[in-house]
Formats: sequence, structure tokens, C-alpha cells
Amino acid sequence: MELIPLPAFSDNYIWILHNHERALVVDPGEPSGVLAWLNEHDIVLDTILITHHHADHTGGVDAIRSATGARVFGPLREQMPEPLQRLGAGECVEVLGLKFDVIEVPGHTAGHIAYYCDDIDGLPLVFCGDTLFSGGCGRLFEGTPAQMLESLQRLSQLPDATRVCCTHEYTLSNLRFASAVEPDNADLEKHLSHCKSLRAQNLVTLPSSIGLEKRINPFLRTGQEAVARAAHANAGAASNDPVAVFAALREWKNRF
Ligand code: ZN
Ligand code: FE
Repeated sequence: MELIPLPAFSDNYIWILHNHERALVVDPGEPSGVLAWLNEHDIVLDTILITHHHADHTGGVDAIRSATGARVFGPLREQMPEPLQRLGAGECVEVLGLKFDVIEVPGHTAGHIAYYCDDIDGLPLVFCGDTLFSGGCGRLFEGTPAQMLESLQRLSQLPDATRVCCTHEYTLSNLRFASAVEPDNADLEKHLSHCKSLRAQNLVTLPSSIGLEKRINPFLRTGQEAVARAAHANAGAASNDPVAVFAALREWKNRF
């Protein structure tokens, strides 16, 4: 299987996973890049997976479905381009011989889901949409801090080797914020300089991994002493409770 982040708009990635004959595509916000790619590589689109309702993730669905006849799967409770098969927590979908489990991750939107496969050529992978980003997390448009924190904790329980396929190239700005939160985190500094050099060559910083995110992403580190201290000092976190720390960090990031 080959995994490809197809750039779209200014900073989106439309992930394509394929076996050189058939492909799945995740969150196609626009159709032309995907259709051109399929055409160029002579690959048949089997399935479209959608994580949440935002237009930059769904805007290409109708045109791609009618051009390819691909099946479409999406979340149970969100406004979606019909027709599609809706999936909720505990359900799974088989695509290209792979089994993807659906994980509900509300917070960015109310019905946001992620797709997890525990073995693609020996490695697990998660398509997590706008929930978990490298070094950061999505904005809370429709959920509470407690909900988003629980969603992120659900993702952080996946195996460390899990490849994290986020849908935006926000890594550098996230890592700059993360290093304001944890200036003494050596793993973070090392990863920031690695990503700076990738971006200087216009290269993609993704996929990340759950193991790496647990070491560098402040939104997965709300239980760490240093993170709680920074949330107090800079963002007025009311207590060391992880939800209070998370809420203060999210607010701080919004104005960073
Ligand atoms: Zn979104
Ligand atoms: Fe988005």
C-alpha cells in the first residue's frame, strides 16, 4: 500500500491510500486534484472516507462520486453530501481488504469521526481529520474542552507506531506554540528544527506518529507538570485539572 498526501487549497492534505490498482481517498475538499491524480496513475477510486462536515473536507465529494462511482462513508450525525453510508462508534468499514475502525472524536465538530486501521503493511494508521494535528489540535467549533480532551485521549491510546494522517499542514505554527508552552522539551526543539528544514524544502511534515505526538504535543500533555505550570502562568488556567489546562491552552493558542 502507498500513502500520499495530496495538497489542496492553501494548507489541506487529501490523503490517498492505494494498492496500485484501487484507492481510497479521505476528505476531498475539492475534486480536480484527486481526479487528475487517479487519471494520471490509472488507478480506480474505490472509496471516499469523510471525517467531518466542513467544506474543505467535503466540497469534492459529489463531483468525485459521480465521476468514479466510489462508495462514500461519513459520520453518523453531521450534514453530509448524500447519498452516503453513515458510521458511528464501534462500527467498522472494510476498504481495499483493510479493516478501519470508527472512533468518535467530537470537539472540532459535534459528530467528527476518525478511521483507524491496526495493520497496513505492518503499521497502524489513523485518519484523524481536524481533531489531532502534529503539535496541536483543531479549534473547538462545536464541542467543549472536556469533549475534545476526551477525543484526543482516545487517539493517544492508539499504539505509539500509529501513523497520524492529519488534514492540514499546521505543524510549524503548532510547534512554535508548543515550544512557548514547553521551552525545555528537547524532543520538541529537535522536531521543530527538523520540520523547519522540511518546510524550507516545501516538503510535507506528515504523517506524524502517536508516540511522537505524546512527546511534543502540549494538547496531549495536559497532565505534565510543565504544561500545567505554563497554562497557569500564561493563560490563567484555573487549576491543574487536565480539562482546565486544556481549555486554557486552546484559548492561548487561539490568540498566539
Ligand atoms: Zn474542519
Ligand atoms: Fe479543515
